[in-house]
Amino acid sequence: MTSKAEESRATRRRGVGLVIRTAAVIIVLLFGAANYLVLDYAIERADSFVAETERTLVRNEFGHQIDQVVQYQSQLSFWDKSFNELADGMPGDAFVRDQLRDWMWSDFGFSWMIFASPDGEKVLGVYRGEKVSESKAREKLHWVSDLTHKAERKYREALSPDRGGWQVARAKEDPDLLTPALPEIHVTGMRLIDRVMSIVVVQAVVPKSLYIPAHRLEPTLLITVKPVSKKMLANTERRLGVHDLGFTPIVTQEPGLVMTPVGADAYNPMVASWRPNMPGSFVWRSALPQIAMFVLVFAGVMLFVTLRFSALIKALQRSEAKNAFLARHDTLTGLKNRSGFDEEVRRAIRKGETKPFAILALDLDKFKAVNDRHGHAAGDAVLQAVARRFSDRIGKQGCVARLGGDEFSVLLTGERSCEALLELAGSLVRDTQVPIAYDGQLLVIGGSAGIAQFPQHGGSVHDVMVMADAALYAAKNAGRNRAVHADHVGQEMIIEAGEARAA
Ligand code: GH3
Ligand code: MG
Repeated sequence: MTSKAEESRATRRRGVGLVIRTAAVIIVLLFGAANYLVLDYAIERADSFVAETERTLVRNEFGHQIDQVVQYQSQLSFWDKSFNELADGMPGDAFVRDQLRDWMWSDFGFSWMIFASPDGEKVLGVYRGEKVSESKAREKLHWVSDLTHKAERKYREALSPDRGGWQVARAKEDPDLLTPALPEIHVTGMRLIDRVMSIVVVQAVVPKSLYIPAHRLEPTLLITVKPVSKKMLANTERRLGVHDLGFTPIVTQEPGLVMTPVGADAYNPMVASWRPNMPGSFVWRSALPQIAMFVLVFAGVMLFVTLRFSALIKALQRSEAKNAFLARHDTLTGLKNRSGFDEEVRRAIRKGETKPFAILALDLDKFKAVNDRHGHAAGDAVLQAVARRFSDRIGKQGCVARLGGDEFSVLLTGERSCEALLELAGSLVRDTQVPIAYDGQLLVIGGSAGIAQFPQHGGSVHDVMVMADAALYAAKNAGRNRAVHADHVGQEMIIEAGEARAA
């Protein structure tokens, strides 16, 4: 039977096993989660870095396209011929037909070209090379009025008096630029014109010499509109390596779409948008199987370690259980030994406050002679045979133990009469007398028994056992092969084993 201390040790060990398994699961989960988080963070950073780079590229690309439109438009704005043509206010039909039509639409793809006085009084509009009515031209002018005001202001700010007229401030030449530097009198913007996102450039028409005679101070502004065509967008997409490049309202909230304002124009409610390259998803796809492998291998290692630990703990439990059994049992007969028996008796005494018990002390008679005559192995066989017989007879009535040598003891719980105890002890004595077959011979011994009861013969284990031993001693003294009850010790009321009852 396991003691409370052993049970609590076993419980602690089961607890340790559970802790190891739980720790292994937590470590594997943490390992997986750490890998996932690191990869996820790296991917998120890579994606946002690429998106930011693409934003800069797209802004620069449209800035470059706007610069190009300014360059094209300047061919007409800084031209003596157009300046002279505007001496009377607006260009004549012949100028429009001969100079503007092809140049404007076929060569540079300007959809609109409008000449206008700053107050908008005088206006001339050309759409795709064809002159349009003043009202149509004015209607378009309305959408870019902020740009025309700004262009007029810039023009006037660039003027300084010179030789009775005015000189437009020259642009600083920059030998590192591939395009000619232009005087800073143009303004640009991006507008939705005729439902197409377009680059709008406005600047005053001035002669190449940049000298404005006094009577020509009032400028004529030239407004050109260059629609950003599908082809232009496709070319830009190819150059930048982005997809679905276009323009969306600034309030768009489409997931996966990157946006950036282009043209630095406060009146433009549209922003450039595209689908970014997401290096993260590629990294994720290629790294995930490897990470999964790592986690699996790690989990395998942890499983192996956990199983080894569990096996170790189980082996420890088995060895401890074996040691605990050996500490309480006799190896030769398998019966309880002295310490196991003491434990049983103490337990019986604890319960004994309400339940009485009896102890039978037994010793084989003339056992030494078996050893001497037939050898130690024969003695062992006798001890084993007697132990088996005692166990069979007592069964569940009590507990049989071998205390050492040829000395046995039986604990019987429950209320029993002196007669019943003497009868049972007599049966045990007779069991010792039945010859034992060993190595082709019959070994004959005998046995004596002493009986004491709790609580009448003692209040402690020790006292009751001393009394049982005294009764056994009396049985031996009375001639062996008999059982004596403690009540009868010293009263010469000793019974022959063959008729084991009170005389
Ligand atoms: P008595 O009738 O007075 O009881 O004498 P006895 O011959 O039975 O001898 P006693 O009880 O005084 O001593 C028991 C002997 O048992 C002593 C020892 O040599 C022997 N013995 C003790 N342990 C073992 C054992 O494990 N195996 C064997 N074969 N003999 C043992
Ligand atoms: Mg003996």
